[in-house]
Amino acid sequence: MVLASLESPLDAIVGARTAKALARAFGMESVGDLLMHLPRRYSHRGELTPLTNLPVGEQVSVVAQVLDVRERQMQARRGSLLEARITDGDGSLTLTFFNQPWRLKDLKPGARGIFAGKVSEYRGNLQLQNPDYEMYEIRDDAPGSAQLAAAAAMAFAEHPVPIYPATAQVPTWTIERAVGLVLDALGPIDDPVPHDIRVPEGIFDLGPAIELVHRPDRDEDWRGAQKSLLFREAFDLQLALLDKRRRAGLEASTPRPLASGQSAAGSALARFDAGLPFALTGDQMRAGATISEELARPHPMHRLLQGEVGSGKTLVALRAMLQVAATGGQSAMLAPTEVLAGQHFRSIVEALGPDLTAEMNPVLLTGRMPAAERKRALLSLASGSSRIAVGTHALLSESVTFYDLGFMVVDEQHRFGVEQRDSLRRKGTAPHMLAMTATPIPRTVALTAFGDLEVTTIRELPPGRLGIESFIVPELEMPNRAARVWARTAEDIAEGRQVYVVCPAISPTEAEEDPEAEESNDTRKLANVVETVAWLQNDPRFAGTQIAGLYGSMTSDEKDRVMRSFSDGEIGILVATTVIEVGVNVPNATIMIVRDADRFGISQLHQLRGRVGRGSHKGLCLLMTTAEQGTTARERIEAVERTSDGFVLAEVDLDLRREGDILGTAQSGGKSTLKLLRVAQHGELIEHARMVAGELLERDPELAQSPGLAAMIARGHVQDHVENLAKA
Ligand code: ADP
Ligand code: MG
Repeated sequence: MVLASLESPLDAIVGARTAKALARAFGMESVGDLLMHLPRRYSHRGELTPLTNLPVGEQVSVVAQVLDVRERQMQARRGSLLEARITDGDGSLTLTFFNQPWRLKDLKPGARGIFAGKVSEYRGNLQLQNPDYEMYEIRDDAPGSAQLAAAAAMAFAEHPVPIYPATAQVPTWTIERAVGLVLDALGPIDDPVPHDIRVPEGIFDLGPAIELVHRPDRDEDWRGAQKSLLFREAFDLQLALLDKRRRAGLEASTPRPLASGQSAAGSALARFDAGLPFALTGDQMRAGATISEELARPHPMHRLLQGEVGSGKTLVALRAMLQVAATGGQSAMLAPTEVLAGQHFRSIVEALGPDLTAEMNPVLLTGRMPAAERKRALLSLASGSSRIAVGTHALLSESVTFYDLGFMVVDEQHRFGVEQRDSLRRKGTAPHMLAMTATPIPRTVALTAFGDLEVTTIRELPPGRLGIESFIVPELEMPNRAARVWARTAEDIAEGRQVYVVCPAISPTEAEEDPEAEESNDTRKLANVVETVAWLQNDPRFAGTQIAGLYGSMTSDEKDRVMRSFSDGEIGILVATTVIEVGVNVPNATIMIVRDADRFGISQLHQLRGRVGRGSHKGLCLLMTTAEQGTTARERIEAVERTSDGFVLAEVDLDLRREGDILGTAQSGGKSTLKLLRVAQHGELIEHARMVAGELLERDPELAQSPGLAAMIARGHVQDHVENLAKA
């Protein structure tokens, strides 16, 4: 028999039917795909799964013991109902079967097995309807002495049973059997990780690691195997990222050094700095110095600049553009939306002042420009008469050419794909690249999600900001405070200010998909845009106020019109979902009201709050909620109320998720394409793996001694992980 490899198709080994089911449920094609479908946890036949807190609506697999069984004829319709209760020794769960009386012989009180099905709730009791199960055989045939029988019983009880992420069609034991067939058929596996890394790291070779993660004899087996695979995952990822960065750093690009000597005094940057009405913050100076130095190198810069909205990133980017302009180069700034591109353009023109604007001739390029204007902009970029371009995706179009693109700035870079960034990059010769983000990222996340970039952080805000005050409004505990929210809204509106109201849903029936909101079985109706608009319009206090809704399913023209009209001050209260853009700037808006704030993630709340307090008036953020004290949902909002430091919040977020992980990923498997690695959990491992990968690349930059690793990188899977993480 020919031995299978990781690339072998599944059907020849597990049979066409199972292969098809696995492909449909999990997209598996090859032996490798199946073997990388790792058990989510391990149970023991002798150890029952806790049955309290099972997530309603989700597919679960539990090990339990049958408590009792009864069968009865149904009253309302013909047929019989078999009800079995299973227990973990404490709580119980009801299994119901319709017209399947033969199951009585499987489900004997005291028997143990594994039960799989979707959890539902019926009259306050959790149940599984028509579950699948596999009963463990009762070993009463053990031969020989009582000791031997006891030892056999013990081995049976302690043997770890892998529990796989499963679906209703493909239960965990089907996966277990398929994996068994595949492992039996599998030939030796080449281990891509070199021996001189495996040994000091104390990790299992790849073959045994895969065998033992699926077929452990003892708990130590799967623990060691899991640890080995986890290290490999972190290592592969960091190696690929560092390799990507190394390759990018080898490209030749035009150095754009800071003007020196005599020309420095009269340079655009010097004149710009001289005209600045304020001093740069320390962080701006440090970021500026780093970037300035990198622009002078003959290899392209790949840097991420992170700092909260208003921390002065655009100013840092603009100063770098002026340095590039002095060498004759052009700069392009890419923004994710029209509104943001327009805003960047206006603030650049304003910051440059009339003389430098005339010299730099900045142009705005968006999809909706009149043809003649667009043509003029294209001409001035192609001829080089314009040194700065700001635009949306329109900048990426074929028809846009640059005379000498030396520097690209990508705002909110996670909103763009690699393709898009590359298509801008190709318009120059390895231009320097600065990505900007206003979403604070903890270091380990940055290392993983943006591991091919160097990161610079601006923490310090320019002085004299009036800031934002945040308050939780617990609607159930303090109804008076809730009423006060709308009175305060009316006061600010009367003073000519504007107000945002954000809701988690669009309409009473339709909830906007919100990946950050915690899974919840709460069927209480969510605050929604449509009803909130109607209800505010009926409030006599807002009789003279224009109130409008804004949400994702509106056409982009409609959205733009509403946003502009709010920006122009015509609309007084904007009721929206989270579509209101990061970075949108309406300085006259003073209050951000978030209804059902517990439905949003920490970073979302922080971003939303950043929409107010941007002008000469102090901002106020009111976080309305019915979440009870002591719940994780409430803790999240409390963190947002307590601090306005986005980096602190990003860490808190990570911590709360880390706790949530124990429950969340335990049953649901999680959305990341990574198998075992959790950026929220494995910070130290990620740092360590990065170091090990870095040392390997230093010894052997082309990975000539490690062809398996070179091939792994060449396959490019890791890039997919990174793209997914950056979007998460
Ligand atoms: P970001 O791009 O990080 O959101 P900007 O660069 O747009 O921030 O700056 C926000 C506002 O703060 C702008 O009006 C800018 O002129 C102003 N600003 C930037 N740096 C400083 C500073 N050092 N002192 C005072 N104001 C500043
Ligand atoms: Mg900005």
